[in-house]
Amino acid sequence: MTAAETGAADSEVTYPTVEDDVTDTLLNILAVDLPAAVINTSGDADLYKTTTAAVDTTIIASFAAQATQIDAETGEIIYIGHDPDARNLKRTPTRRDRDEFRTGYKLEAVIPTLDIPLNRTEPSKTATRLPGAAIAYRFHNDNHSPHQTVKTLRLLAARGRHLSTVTGDLGFTNSIAEKWATPLRALGIDPVHDLKEHTRTKTGKIRHRSEHRGLRPLQQLTTKAGEPDGMLVTIDGTVYEQHIANHLDHIGLVDLPKPEWVVIANQNPERAAARKQLIHKYDQRTKFAWREHDRPTPDTHRLKGPAHGTNRTAWCANHPKTRHDGHKRHLPKTPCQPDDNCHCAAVVTLPNTANAKFRQRRPWGTTGWQHQYAQRSLAESHFATIKGNYTDLERPLNIRTSGIAARGLATLCIFAAMNIRLIARHRTKRGLEPHPPTPQPQTSPTTPTNAPDDDHPTPRPEPPNTP
Ligand SMILES: [Zn+2]
Repeated sequence: MTAAETGAADSEVTYPTVEDDVTDTLLNILAVDLPAAVINTSGDADLYKTTTAAVDTTIIASFAAQATQIDAETGEIIYIGHDPDARNLKRTPTRRDRDEFRTGYKLEAVIPTLDIPLNRTEPSKTATRLPGAAIAYRFHNDNHSPHQTVKTLRLLAARGRHLSTVTGDLGFTNSIAEKWATPLRALGIDPVHDLKEHTRTKTGKIRHRSEHRGLRPLQQLTTKAGEPDGMLVTIDGTVYEQHIANHLDHIGLVDLPKPEWVVIANQNPERAAARKQLIHKYDQRTKFAWREHDRPTPDTHRLKGPAHGTNRTAWCANHPKTRHDGHKRHLPKTPCQPDDNCHCAAVVTLPNTANAKFRQRRPWGTTGWQHQYAQRSLAESHFATIKGNYTDLERPLNIRTSGIAARGLATLCIFAAMNIRLIARHRTKRGLEPHPPTPQPQTSPTTPTNAPDDDHPTPRPEPPNTP
């Protein structure tokens, strides 16, 4: 039970802890405990104790072609589908499949990924890579994946599984803050967001001014007497002081295009170099950004200016002592003029509602963010591996159960079994398990010349005629 429910004193700062009661359906509790049991008995349990995870969503189609239709206003059942719980779910159309809806259920997965400390830009070179096995799933028929995923992250927290960073794709970023970013922070988890080019453009498909690209006012700063005193703005969700942002705009570091996808860029050395240069610009401008100072309280968080403290990233002429970092190296200089009324070395307290949707600790577009976000591919390949490479789960008729409990349980068992295969294959690769014996071609001792060779392959037996 939370502090609010028990009526604890307002001054107490509480985070959800393992003592919290979290209730859920048996299916969704099993969807947390079963993958955990697989990992805990695998011999690799230590490998999965990272505090970073990626989340992703897939649709598990029902074998019923049509979903039950209920009149939203009257509650009248217009049509009863063969699978009473299957729903028409929104999906992202692809080039091969342009349908915007699919009848069925949604499966959320939480996949542990390698940790990247905030003072580094990529995971440790010596860390053992992870095979992309899941630590939790969620099976549901709700259109809102972020909302459902938060419930599973809460179950994980109640099971004592501590996560500090969770990476989601645009589907999660686009969610309203109340259903994704805010409840995540309440669990002590920092969200990692992506931004999309068309939502960033000022006059693209979406007519109104973008919330990312360009300057967006965040918070008016005031003196102790309440007089207006400077302004904080955001660029791509990262916070800057207004006069510094104006300077960055002047030198062309605000309206930056989204870096190309690394796989496409690396096909051509010139484009790869251009991508690297562009990411370098993101790194440069981030040196003048405000960063989160410490762990947020339930209502507020603190931001520190670029020249604040020992981990400062820039120096300001109004604070001459900030010129060198601890190693006596010169830091980049902010564009502040002497006697400017700037706040480069200050700490401000903001309500958690400010910039709630797009706030992230690692500024979007930088080298560190690129490596962080790239970890998410483990979650994408998790579904690809299981739906395409290991099973026929993509074909809805292969599991002929209906109803959320039966279909969920069948799906969950298949995914748990596939996690065992993922982990086993990874252990074999690392030499922890012996390779399974390779089957030898069987040759009859009386006809040794009958062995198949490349030029004359043995014809395959005809499949028996099936009615
Ligand atoms: Zn300054």
